[in-house]
Amino acid sequence: MKMRIALHLASLTLAGALLSGNALGEDKKMKVLIIDGQNNHNWKATTPVLVEALESCGQFQVTVSTSPPGGASQEVWEKWRPAFSKADTVLSNYNGQDWPEEVQKSFLAYVNGGGGFVVVHAANNSFGKWKEYNKIIGVGGWGGRKIGRDGPWVHIVEGKAVRDSETKGNGGSHGPRHPFKVEHIDTTHPVTKGLPAKWMHQKDELYCRLCGPAENMEVQGFSYSPQSKRNEPMLMTISYGDGRVFHTPMGHDVEAMRCRGFFTIIQRGTEWAATGAVKRTAKVPDDFPTEEKVSVVPSAKK
Ligand code: ZN
Repeated sequence: MKMRIALHLASLTLAGALLSGNALGEDKKMKVLIIDGQNNHNWKATTPVLVEALESCGQFQVTVSTSPPGGASQEVWEKWRPAFSKADTVLSNYNGQDWPEEVQKSFLAYVNGGGGFVVVHAANNSFGKWKEYNKIIGVGGWGGRKIGRDGPWVHIVEGKAVRDSETKGNGGSHGPRHPFKVEHIDTTHPVTKGLPAKWMHQKDELYCRLCGPAENMEVQGFSYSPQSKRNEPMLMTISYGDGRVFHTPMGHDVEAMRCRGFFTIIQRGTEWAATGAVKRTAKVPDDFPTEEKVSVVPSAKK
């Protein structure tokens, strides 16, 4: 009799696991490795928000690898070897000095071999001269990038991504922070499918004039920049070798990240980078922003 109860309990537990959509168990959560440690932004404050954005949906297990600080000795750098290959997706919150060659090589091998990569905000400022990194992120800003020389300025005209190599000048700019509307031009991509096609993003920097190789890159969503007077890409996917890359220039600070739209996009973009599909994070949150109204994610209870 005891045995039968135990079996019954076991099957209930299994049913519960199946119902929760996590039939494979805790250890089968998608593994995300966040890289931070150097940034001209407050990475110490924003990395915990990125961790929360991912882990709050119950589908991701996040670890953080913090690089040595600027000016650290070579000996210290030699001890920093992020385990890219153990992650389903790497997410960069890093904008700083060049990684050691060994780390660069292992990162390229990881993405090329089918790893996922998520680029958030100033992560697209880093490594302006690293050719392969620029192919991976599609477009970037600052870091010495020049429109034309380093690739076209990608912007959106009538729902299509346009590559402008004629305009000259520095890649990367932004005006004062403000809330802005994000519009999806691809509503069938797993990252955007089923979401309202227009939504108001919380106060953020609106990056414009991003340029780069823009190879194997598609744009899923844009925002109109009052500064550049163009529609600038806000949601991008890039393929590099067998790897998948999701890139959003949104997410300047904690305030910008605590937007339900940003949380949703980060979850979906990360799942897509990890698996090529969006299934486990597809549910549209009840408090997703509308076209006119921002939606702030309340701070986690302490
Ligand atoms: Zn910023």
